[in-house]
Amino acid sequence: MTNQAKAIRIEAHGGPEVLKLATVEVPAPAKGEVTIRQKAVGLNFIDIYFRTGLYPHPLPHGLGFEAAGDVVAVGEGVTHLKVGDRVAYGQSPLGAYADLRNVPADRVVKLPDSVSYDEAAAAMLKGLTVQYLFRQCYRLQEGETILFHAAAGGVGLFACQWARALGVKLIGTASSDEKCALAKEHGAWEVINYSTENVAERVKELTNGAKLPVVYDGVGKDTWMTSLDCLRPRGLMVSFGNASGPVEGVDLALLNNKGSLYVTRPKLGDYVPTQETMQAAADDLFSLIIDGRIKVAIGQRFPLSEAAQAQEALAARKTTGATIFTLD
Ligand code: NDP
Repeated sequence: MTNQAKAIRIEAHGGPEVLKLATVEVPAPAKGEVTIRQKAVGLNFIDIYFRTGLYPHPLPHGLGFEAAGDVVAVGEGVTHLKVGDRVAYGQSPLGAYADLRNVPADRVVKLPDSVSYDEAAAAMLKGLTVQYLFRQCYRLQEGETILFHAAAGGVGLFACQWARALGVKLIGTASSDEKCALAKEHGAWEVINYSTENVAERVKELTNGAKLPVVYDGVGKDTWMTSLDCLRPRGLMVSFGNASGPVEGVDLALLNNKGSLYVTRPKLGDYVPTQETMQAAADDLFSLIIDGRIKVAIGQRFPLSEAAQAQEALAARKTTGATIFTLD
């Protein structure tokens, strides 16, 4: 049996105009899959990389990795989910921009009663990213000082709050005083407006010359060199995104000259490869949301039919916190 869904599809790479709302067939779930009637969908910068073709994928295809809703059908072999479960995911195959879809069950977790669909659709990719960045990629210790770029963004506001919860001093960067104030409200220890201030000098001042054990950089090209300059010898550069464009042509000698630095270019999927690791990371995130140490900051809501406008706003740096698509 098939059902119909409203979904955003692209047939060519390009600007926001390539996003088209279409009616698509959703077959019965295959072995290992569940069908989810979605209630809210998350917008992420990575969706823009797939739209433009920066991250190549054979066309045509859907977009999006993050959503929450109800299980309406369960495929063969799925044991941890049943029809009627409230669920969410943040690391699926492409295609979350839809009101109904099939998803591999090992990517899907049950939602605690007190976490809403909107919160989950905003948190599952961005919050789990901060989970692996802070608890797995580099295991932050209480009292450490770190730099986190674009701290008022979707991932950024989770990072500010998670750092505060860990007793970590997060120095956040953002492009305006308003965004800096927002990052501070969400727990950043210090903020730097990187449109007007010299980040490496400010970091040196704030750390009394010691600089940092780790820098988290989702901005990419524009901040790469500054980020390296903020690291102490043998520090770790976590380059996890390209909002300003990809970092290219890395000269290994630079890492040597700047103090035997380490660099990693991680992605969420490699840190939650199984249902068990996904569930453990989600439990960590949900516990902070449930006890109030992380408040899911949803800055904008758009109907799915306005996916193009939503992506334009994100690319133009007009959003703060998370953006979600609402569904009827
Ligand atoms: P954000 O909400 O953080 O939006 C991106 C922000 O980047 C902007 O708001 C802007 O903040 C800053 N920015 C700096 N330069 C530019 C530029 N030239 N164009 C646009 N924005 C710019 O997005 P997300 O929270 O969705 O993602 C943040 C980053 O994390 C992205 O690079 C994303 O790809 C990456 N990511 C990586 C993951 C991984 O596992 N590797 C997983 C999840 C996200 P400001 O105006 O303050 O500069």
